[in-house]
Amino acid sequence: MNEWLRQNGKVIADSFSLSDLKTDSNFLQWQETNYDKVVFCDGYHAASSNVFSYLPFIPAKGEIIDFTAPDLPETHIINNGHFILPLGKGNFKAGATYSWTDLNTISTESALLELETALQKTISCSYQVTHQKAAVRPTVKDRRPLLGFHPVMKNIGIFNGLGTKGVMQGPYYASQMSNLIVNEKAVDAEVSVKRFESLFQ
Ligand SMILES: Cc1cc2nc3c(=O)[nH]c(=O)nc-3n(C[C@H](O)[C@H](O)[C@H](O)COP(=O)(O)OP(=O)(O)OC[C@H]3O[C@@H](n4cnc5c(N)ncnc54)[C@H](O)[C@@H]3O)c2cc1C
Repeated sequence: MNEWLRQNGKVIADSFSLSDLKTDSNFLQWQETNYDKVVFCDGYHAASSNVFSYLPFIPAKGEIIDFTAPDLPETHIINNGHFILPLGKGNFKAGATYSWTDLNTISTESALLELETALQKTISCSYQVTHQKAAVRPTVKDRRPLLGFHPVMKNIGIFNGLGTKGVMQGPYYASQMSNLIVNEKAVDAEVSVKRFESLFQ
């Protein structure tokens, strides 16, 4: 799908700044092109930088490691509070940590220690850490996604709040979001941004 979008000129890889968006009740303009609607899918950045910052985000930093372990079986995903995910050919991913401070994408020694300690409690064979990565989950106070349109700027939407389960829930809720945009079919009440409309001043 990504490839199709690129080949058909439907993707512009660029940094987006809200100040470059010209808004009107009937149209939106960005880089000299008019759009009917804009939907922000900017992850935890929405908590601080766009028109949806009134929503109750509680972003959570998380870190993972990649490791090799030639003697570790690759038949199962293990999850006992921390997960171990086989990637094939003796490569694995393990995670994840949670932190509600220092919301950045810098890897830390303390997370490495936590992940290695958990790993050593779970596996008994030798392993070699090859990579460590940090990111921030766009988590919401009630731990549910945020889908819908702004209370006042009706042509500006959001698809966010996927929190700790974005990989799993993303496709399901993307389908609801596209139905809202194209067919004006309401999204599930528990994921609609309408549930937080009282927070909008
Ligand atoms: C350590 C960790 C472990 C996880 N494990 C799991 C798991 O096991 N299962 C699961 O289902 N989910 C998991 N998740 C959660 C999942 O990854 C997130 O829910 C998901 O990434 C959220 O997707 P998103 O597209 O909304 O936001 P993001 O993935 O944060 O993507 C937002 C994108 O917007 C871009 N962006 C932001 N601002 C701008 C701008 N101004 N201009 C241009 N681009 C911009 C960013 O560069 C980024 O690419 C995990 C997350 C972390 C951090």
